[in-house]
Amino acid sequence: MAICPLCGTAHGIIYGKRKLKGKPYYRVGEPILKSDYFADLLSKYDENKPFGVEVEASGRGSFKNWRYISPQEAPQLFESVQKVFYKAIKSWLQKGWLDKKELQKILKKVK
Ligand SMILES: [Zn+2]
Repeated sequence: MAICPLCGTAHGIIYGKRKLKGKPYYRVGEPILKSDYFADLLSKYDENKPFGVEVEASGRGSFKNWRYISPQEAPQLFESVQKVFYKAIKSWLQKGWLDKKELQKILKKVK
């Protein structure tokens, strides 16, 4: 698994073991691939994703009045996310894990 540069939690490839049909034990050998988090993220990536959501707690872990919000509606939250985002980019550049040329290509494409 990889440690996400933004949230610091580990995501990645989750393997599962195939249970033999009708038996309480697992098949010996290669585990089956259950999910590849980053590959899934890439394939479903939505560039028009909204900034955030606002919800009201309605007790027992449930929420109500769920809606999308813009950075302007939650400037402090936006600033915090932005700071983490910039820090992650800076740290990956310092480690040589991000390619400056790739970033420049992205910057040129964004107008
Ligand atoms: Zn994350």
